[in-house]
Amino acid sequence: MKLRATRMKRLSDFVLIMFILLGLVNCKQAQEESVQNFIIIPQPVEITPTAGVFQLNSRTKITCDEELRSKAEQLAGFLKPATGYNLPITGIGKRKNVISLSLDISLNNLGNEGYKLDVRPKRITITASSAVGILYGIQSLRQLFPAEIERKNISKTNDSWSIPCVSITDNPRFIWRGLMLDCSRTFWSKEYIKRTLRLMSLYKLNVLHLHLTDDQGWRIEIEKYPELTQKGARFPAKWNEPKEREGFYTKNDIREIVDYATQHNVAIVPEIEMPGHSMAVLACYPELSCTGGPFEIHPFFKGPSVHKDIFCAGNEKTFEFLENVLTEVVEMFPSEYIHIGGDEAPKKRWEMCKKCQARLIEERLKDEHELQSWFIKRIEKLVSGQGKKLIGWDEILEGGLSSTASVMYWRGWLEDVPERVVSKGNDIVMSPTSHCYFDYKYEAISTMKAYEYEPVSNKLSKEHSNNILGVQANFWSHIDRTEAGVDKQLFPRILSISEVGWSPNNKKDSTYFKEKVIKQLIRLEKLGVNYFHDPGLKNVK
Ligand SMILES: [Zn+2]
Repeated sequence: MKLRATRMKRLSDFVLIMFILLGLVNCKQAQEESVQNFIIIPQPVEITPTAGVFQLNSRTKITCDEELRSKAEQLAGFLKPATGYNLPITGIGKRKNVISLSLDISLNNLGNEGYKLDVRPKRITITASSAVGILYGIQSLRQLFPAEIERKNISKTNDSWSIPCVSITDNPRFIWRGLMLDCSRTFWSKEYIKRTLRLMSLYKLNVLHLHLTDDQGWRIEIEKYPELTQKGARFPAKWNEPKEREGFYTKNDIREIVDYATQHNVAIVPEIEMPGHSMAVLACYPELSCTGGPFEIHPFFKGPSVHKDIFCAGNEKTFEFLENVLTEVVEMFPSEYIHIGGDEAPKKRWEMCKKCQARLIEERLKDEHELQSWFIKRIEKLVSGQGKKLIGWDEILEGGLSSTASVMYWRGWLEDVPERVVSKGNDIVMSPTSHCYFDYKYEAISTMKAYEYEPVSNKLSKEHSNNILGVQANFWSHIDRTEAGVDKQLFPRILSISEVGWSPNNKKDSTYFKEKVIKQLIRLEKLGVNYFHDPGLKNVK
């Protein structure tokens, strides 16, 4: 009997263990499935679904440390239009039905932009070591709500604002997650820039690079040179360009844009092009060219896309002009970086110019490429003397790169450029034509192609890969010249760049990402974004 009882016991233990194991497997499956129900872009580093829901209602309070009051106001502002709730903001104290924002120095290990978001049935907490991290926790929380939360007026179809309980720990892969807007070929209004900043912040993009000068127009007020905006910001009347395509930002506009960007954790990196793409300047000050002009601005498709007339490198007045301009630019933008262009500068004029050739001899330079390198290094001294770092398009490599300049990689067909840059110890931002040029059609760069981009080549050593600052999408405004047109070119594929720049490489999952983008389209629609119906996003199971 005893033996039988033991066998029975063993059998029942075995059955019990099997049940537990099966239960664990099921539970794990259920948990994995529910992770896939979360549609946050960019994908957080760690996301653990837990039981229950948090129900937002008119009695919910936002509690915060005093220094986070402006973030609490931003959160209340996001939630108000669709819910109609005026959520009160109070100090930390209340325990139930609250969204709590607080700083926690122990989260330093997540960096300046990292955060923890914990949604429980009675309470939501967002903690971070800085206000920036809190903002990103808020942006993730926003995406946990139904897309209806983005409506500009009270939702009639959704009065139950419940969100699933979850625990998220998150921080970015790269420090530079950018977008470049070309404001020269087409001018974009201050309101459009602010809207872009709001959308960038939602998807945790943190650098807006404004291409402020080019052959088609000078777009920023410089007090010392009023001609630049009186003449250089306008297309000549004979081209009959619509008025909204030209103009410039005043110093007050820039102040407003920079403040707004700071609230949304976006650094504005201004670009002042040199020595090429400078027709807007030369039309105003032809004496800064090699030939003396005259020159005229024209819409992009009404003349050469790259002009052979560029700043004269042999003329001291060129450097006096650029120093004065950059001094005013540096004062306007708190960003760590100043972009100086440096791309597509034909050397034809320099070859024929007495002043440029004299400079070549005087500085013992081998050729005109070295003259460009000398030009950029001289500008870098000026920029770093004003406490800023210089970044330029990848042509600044030619003729020799200074040890401290950073490079923006764009010529996707030159595959060795990133390695050449980082092996010298210089920093690089990846924005190649192959994946990041969003003026290209979706046939060339689909949402999924952009998502598949990996900024760090496996050829690079760990040490060198640390010089990759991040990734950036570029939008040149010569083809699509309306706000609705830019929306289509940027959305939804900018979401791919957001995830490439933020999420760990080993968390990449194309099927899951595709499903998330399709669901995010509903959110974009509520936000009034005129996104493109990318055929590559269909056929999701
Ligand atoms: Zn010259």
